[in-house]
Amino acid sequence: MTAAENTNLLVVGAGPAGLAAARAVAAAGHHVIVIDREDEAGGVPRHCAHTGFGLRDLHRTYSGPTYAKEIVRRTLADGVEIRTGTTATDWAGSTSMHTTSRIGRSLINADAVLLATGCRERPPSARLIPGSRPAGIYTTGALQQLVHLAGHPVGRRAVVVGAEHIAFSAVHTLLGSGTEVAAVITPSPILQTFQLLRAGTAGIHAIPVLYGCDITAIEGSKRVTGLSITSATGISTRLACDTIVFTGDWIPDYELARSANLAMDAATKGPITDTAGSTSRPGVYAAGNVCHPAEPADIAALTGAHIGHSITAWLDGSSSSAREWQQSTLLQVSSPLLWISPQRLVPSRLPACDRFVLRAEKQAGAGTITVTQQGHTLYRHRVRRLTPNRSLTLPADWTTAVDSGGTVVIGFQPR
Ligand SMILES: Cc1cc2nc3c(=O)[nH]c(=O)nc-3n(C[C@H](O)[C@H](O)[C@H](O)COP(=O)(O)OP(=O)(O)OC[C@H]3O[C@@H](n4cnc5c(N)ncnc54)[C@H](O)[C@@H]3O)c2cc1C
Repeated sequence: MTAAENTNLLVVGAGPAGLAAARAVAAAGHHVIVIDREDEAGGVPRHCAHTGFGLRDLHRTYSGPTYAKEIVRRTLADGVEIRTGTTATDWAGSTSMHTTSRIGRSLINADAVLLATGCRERPPSARLIPGSRPAGIYTTGALQQLVHLAGHPVGRRAVVVGAEHIAFSAVHTLLGSGTEVAAVITPSPILQTFQLLRAGTAGIHAIPVLYGCDITAIEGSKRVTGLSITSATGISTRLACDTIVFTGDWIPDYELARSANLAMDAATKGPITDTAGSTSRPGVYAAGNVCHPAEPADIAALTGAHIGHSITAWLDGSSSSAREWQQSTLLQVSSPLLWISPQRLVPSRLPACDRFVLRAEKQAGAGTITVTQQGHTLYRHRVRRLTPNRSLTLPADWTTAVDSGGTVVIGFQPR
C-alpha cells in the first residue's frame, strides 16, 4: 500500500524559486516539504560554475554551486524538509501528489502545491535540424552537468549554436574543459546578449560569431565529424568539429501543469499565473522558470518569495485563490511582443518586484510599450529596442488604473 502523509505546502522543485517560496511559507509557521528528482537540491545553479548568482536576492555574488549550497543551507535552517531523489510523478487529487523515490511510491496530501519545476533547453533530438544525431551533441545544461557534476571530458573541437546569454555560458564551459571552440553560429541576425559577455568569452579567444546561419547538415555516424551551414547570402561552409552544443530554445518543465489541465500559455508553454502566482486550479501555484523561460536565478528566487507570501495568505485563510483568479484581468500581448508573465492581474496585487516580464518575437528598434484597456491608454513606457530571447521589464505603475471589465492589451509602437 502507498504510504500517505500530510503537509501544508508541497513544493515540486528545489531550485531558487521553490526554495525561496518554501522559506517564506515556513517562516509563517507552516509545514513545508520540498521534493526534487535530483540527488542534490539547488536546481540549475549547481552546475553553472561561474560567478554572477545571488546579486538581487542575497545581495552579493556567488558562483552557481556556492549559491546553490547557500540557498539550500538557508532553507534547511528555516525548518523546511527537503527530499532529494524524489520525483512528483502524478496528481492524486487537486492538491495531492504521488511521488517516487528509492524507498518506493508515496502519497503527499497538501493544502497547497507549488510547481517550481524550472525549464530546459529543447533537446537536440527534437530540433528540426537536418542530418543524423551521432554522439557529441549536447544542450548547455547537459554539457554543464557532464563537465561540472560528472567531471567527464567533452571533445576536442566544438561549435556552439545560439546567440543568447547561455550560448556564451557554453563557450565558457567548453574552454574551461579544454575544448577548443571553432565558432558560435546562430540563425539570428543579431546578438541577443550583452556585447560585454560576448567580448569576455568568444571575443578574448578570437572565436568567430556567425550570424544569420542555418545548419544544413550534421555529419558523422558514431561521433560528430562536422557541421554544414548556409549563410543568409546562401554561401555554404563546412565546420569540422566533434562536439555541437545547442543552446537556448527553452521549454518549461510543464508535464505536471499539463496533466492537471491547468490553463496554459501557448507562448511561454508554461502555466498561466496571476500576480499572486495562482494557476487556474485553486491551491496550485507556479513560480520560476516554469512560468517565464528563462530568467536569471535571482529573479526566480524573488518571484518564488513573492508567491510564498501569497501561498501563506491562502493557507491562513486571508485570501481565496479561486475568487482572486475569477476577479483577475487577462493581460494580452500583441505582435511583435510574444509573451508577458504573469498573464493575469489580481486587483491590488502587484507582481513580484513590482514589474512584469515581457519577451518579443521579432527584433525592433526604439519605441514605446503601450498598455491599453478598452481603447484607453493606461501607460506608455519607452524602450531602446526589442530583441527576441531577451527580457524587457514593464513597471506595474499602471495596474491601479485597470478596471474590472475587459482585457488589458500590451502592445508596441515603433518610434
Ligand atoms: C544551462 C543553464 C545555465 C544557466 N546559467 C545561468 C547563469 O549563469 N546565471 C543565472 O542567473 N541564471 C542562469 N540560468 C538560469 C537559472 O539557472 C534559472 O533561472 C534558475 O535556476 C531557475 O530557477 P527555478 O527554481 O525556476 O528552476 P531550476 O533551477 O531549474 O529548478 C527546478 C528544479 O525542479 C526539479 N524538478 C523538475 N520536475 C520535477 C519533478 N517532477 N519532481 C521533482 N523535481 C522536479 C528539477 O530537478 C530542478 O532541480 C541558467 C539556466 C540553465 C538551464
